[in-house]
Amino acid sequence: MTDRCNMRCVYCMPAGGVEKLAHEEILSYEQFLLIARAAVGLGIEKIRVTGGEPLVRHGIVPFLEQLAKTEGLRQLVLTTNGVKLAGLAQALKDAGVQRLNISLDSLQPALFKQLTRRDLLYEVLAGIEAVEKIGLSYKLNMVVMRGCNDHEICDFAALTREHDCTVRFIEYMPALKEEGWSALVVPGAEILQQLETRYQLQAIDNGPLAGPAREFAIAGGRGRIGVINPLSGHFCAKCNRIRITAAGQVRTCLFSDDEFDLKPLLQLNDVEILTRQLKRLVDGKPACHKLNAAEFSHAAFSMAHIGG
Ligand code: SAM
Ligand code: SF4
Repeated sequence: MTDRCNMRCVYCMPAGGVEKLAHEEILSYEQFLLIARAAVGLGIEKIRVTGGEPLVRHGIVPFLEQLAKTEGLRQLVLTTNGVKLAGLAQALKDAGVQRLNISLDSLQPALFKQLTRRDLLYEVLAGIEAVEKIGLSYKLNMVVMRGCNDHEICDFAALTREHDCTVRFIEYMPALKEEGWSALVVPGAEILQQLETRYQLQAIDNGPLAGPAREFAIAGGRGRIGVINPLSGHFCAKCNRIRITAAGQVRTCLFSDDEFDLKPLLQLNDVEILTRQLKRLVDGKPACHKLNAAEFSHAAFSMAHIGG
């Protein structure tokens, strides 16, 4: 929805932020609605609204209300850093958002501040509390980084004993291509091993719209635990996603530099032409990313441009 954000997570953005898209480059809500109609008409059933931080875009709630009405759409979900959630939770639910993914990498104030470069942990926790209170379903996404927040894996998992939410552990990905990035990756298998030393985990079958996580539950717990391992166990063969950036660029693989500019087509305002192009793009999805290949190379990018 936007490349703007009210945080500066170390793995996502340089400290000074990324060069902002010019206002006129960002798609209008009408253009996003047209893309949604074309995509859902083709059989896409789930739309995730993300960013940047989607909740900082002016007018986001009325837009979501329109988006939720897209005929044939089965799931509308939103990914947020949670900072503005406390004031918006009810409005999001009323607009038709069915679930939230809330990103949270540390429960410790000092580490949270270090990772996000913002002192906003309590705002995020208040947001989560608000979401729970109104019964809006949510997942907590934690990006695990070795030597940084991996000592909190069991603390995050423990949240699922009392809270009816899903906690998902995500392997750190080399978006910014920082020096020595591979030392930060904790493979999904290792995360699971760590959890199994503390808890008895039961595997769960999570259904056809569930996305890339393998899910488990702690015996007797209310919530679930998911592990997403894009690097160590890449799930490309099952990946059916396409991403549209705030500027209308289509990415059919997170780690391919290829982007297709939808803007010229959007100006025609013709849903059928758009539908045909989206179909071509989905048909051309690459078989697999090359993150683990020796000759691997992709241009550095900010996840804030692509949505994560
Ligand atoms: N601002 C919102 C948020 O943080 O939830 C939505 C956009 S953010 C780019 C979406 C997701 O991408 C977040 O869960 C974030 O943790 C994740 N992400 C960003 N950079 C990442 C990286 N290098 N490796 C793994 N996940 C990353
Ligand atoms: Fe902002 Fe989300 Fe990127 Fe953090 S991960 S800087 S909250 S867009």
